[in-house]
Amino acid sequence: MVYGYGNRIAFIDLTKGKVKIRKPKESILKEYIGGKGLGARLLYDMLPPKIDPLSPSNILIFAVGPLTGTGAPASARGVIVTKSPATWTFNDSNGGGFFTSYMKLAGYDALVFLGRAEKLSYVYIDHDGKIHIRDATHISGYGVYATEDTLKDEVGDKDAKVASIGPAGENLVKIAGVVVDKHHIHARGGSGAVMGSKNLKAVVVSADKNNPRYELAYPDEFNEFNRRYIKEKIFSEEYSWAKDGGTPVIVQWSNEAGLFPTKNFQDGVFDGWEDISAEILKSYRTSKAACYRCTIACRNLVKIRHEKFGEVFIDGPEYETIAMVGGSTGLGDFKAIVSLNALLDDMGMDSISAGNIIGYVMELYEKGYISKDDLGGLEAKWGDPDVEHELVKMIAYRRGFGDIMAEGVKGIASYIGGDSYKFAIEVKGLEYPAYDPRGSYSMALAYATSDRGACHLRAWSIVEEAFGDKDPYIVEGKAEIVIRLQDLNAIKWSMVWCDFLAINYEDMSTYLRLATGWDLKPEELRYRGEKIWNLIRLFNLREGFTRRDDYAPYRILHEPLKSGPAKDKVIGVDNFNKMLDEYYRLRGWNKDGVPLKKTLRRLRLSKDYKRVWHPLN
Ligand code: SF4
Repeated sequence: MVYGYGNRIAFIDLTKGKVKIRKPKESILKEYIGGKGLGARLLYDMLPPKIDPLSPSNILIFAVGPLTGTGAPASARGVIVTKSPATWTFNDSNGGGFFTSYMKLAGYDALVFLGRAEKLSYVYIDHDGKIHIRDATHISGYGVYATEDTLKDEVGDKDAKVASIGPAGENLVKIAGVVVDKHHIHARGGSGAVMGSKNLKAVVVSADKNNPRYELAYPDEFNEFNRRYIKEKIFSEEYSWAKDGGTPVIVQWSNEAGLFPTKNFQDGVFDGWEDISAEILKSYRTSKAACYRCTIACRNLVKIRHEKFGEVFIDGPEYETIAMVGGSTGLGDFKAIVSLNALLDDMGMDSISAGNIIGYVMELYEKGYISKDDLGGLEAKWGDPDVEHELVKMIAYRRGFGDIMAEGVKGIASYIGGDSYKFAIEVKGLEYPAYDPRGSYSMALAYATSDRGACHLRAWSIVEEAFGDKDPYIVEGKAEIVIRLQDLNAIKWSMVWCDFLAINYEDMSTYLRLATGWDLKPEELRYRGEKIWNLIRLFNLREGFTRRDDYAPYRILHEPLKSGPAKDKVIGVDNFNKMLDEYYRLRGWNKDGVPLKKTLRRLRLSKDYKRVWHPLN
């Protein structure tokens, strides 16, 4: 038995309706830790190259790590790993709430879904840890809220935790996520569409909080260290933002730095941002909240009554939703943003990508690329909440032009053609998050080199740049920051921790030793982060990705911002290439972004390239 783990991986073959349980090798766990790392190893080894992500050949992995659910701060996390239908790259999306902690309590390190069920199904892990595949045709088309309530009733456990897809996932919308506990979403990259393609509506888990199916190596020392860590770090000034407004405090920071996405990234300051700020949120907040045993407790429970959309009570909204569904679509009505957040959760869609798509469609409409007729009679004017509600439903149900929108910004641009790509804000098919790199240049590199397309969570380098003390408008020294954060986060997402925990390698190493008994030094953890990052690079290269896919959108490189502190800033092609060249050099990759032989040797990855096996063969 390996401490800190459930020591079970379930391979659930939906085509055959069979479940096989395997014990993971300690050597693999020690090298790839769990979560992202373990998922990357499994995906690399099991997936034949170049398969269609929505075919039964794709695999979908729910993975937790040695820290998941242990009571360490921000450890209520797990990841979903798959090949993304939005980007065709590796994809992992991190989520909180309670579901993944319950999966760990039930004694599973990973659930690997293979094939495709004949009809819509759900998977239930009962109190004994036994896995059942059950019929879900009676909840076909249900939103996430009704799905959760129905399935909890059905398994007779009100405390069961549910991960499910809404209509967007069932309709294979490329921005569909997997929603857990109604308002937490494994959002990015379309893992909900992969789940839909497998005819898998939900995964439900029952577990006993007082009887976890894993053991820690040194439980007393773990609890003692954890108590001290929480007292000294989590209850310090550093986390006051979480206790205050949570991530919505960033609305103010971003506007003050001039990089708040406004009207599809046309500007970096949103007039009236105060109306959608953390201060406004607080006036609708009923209480603070937290994911499973998390002492950071950054969440906000918010209740609003909208004149048109009625009463809504949600856990949220987060900064990204406010910025992308609000600022990027020109919507400055906080209550309308909350109601859209609730709708997106129920449909099971990523709010970052949805806001981006809507903003893009509004600009296409404004500039005459599409008409009212194309949109089924809708006038897609900036900041109209009715239009946004309608567009969200059109995407989720692939109705009319929604069928094109469901393919994402890149899909819309290729459908419209001409020069519409010039204001399509994406990388590799994944829409930009809510930080305009023209106000913080390193973010252009972070988005371009992210392993799953434009993602701010791989390297939130803005914290050292526009929100820190480094010059945001130069490119020198930025590759080092991005690499350092990517490697750190690769290991954080393997443990699995939340992004909001600012933890260093020393403390990670202590937590891991007390959980597993392994004495991995901080440098050995950093090495593993780098190794995981490079393994995923090999995966993406095997899929055919090259340097030309590590790009920044035309607008970000060529069009200056119109107002605010970053007014007239534009990154430019030469500056961007300078950052990218530096990044490849420091990574030990060649000019095309391929790891050099000596880099692969150092990371003990030389034999991996092109190797494919399947544990059930
Ligand atoms: S920091 Fe916030 S989002 Fe992260 S685990 Fe804790 S409560 Fe959840």
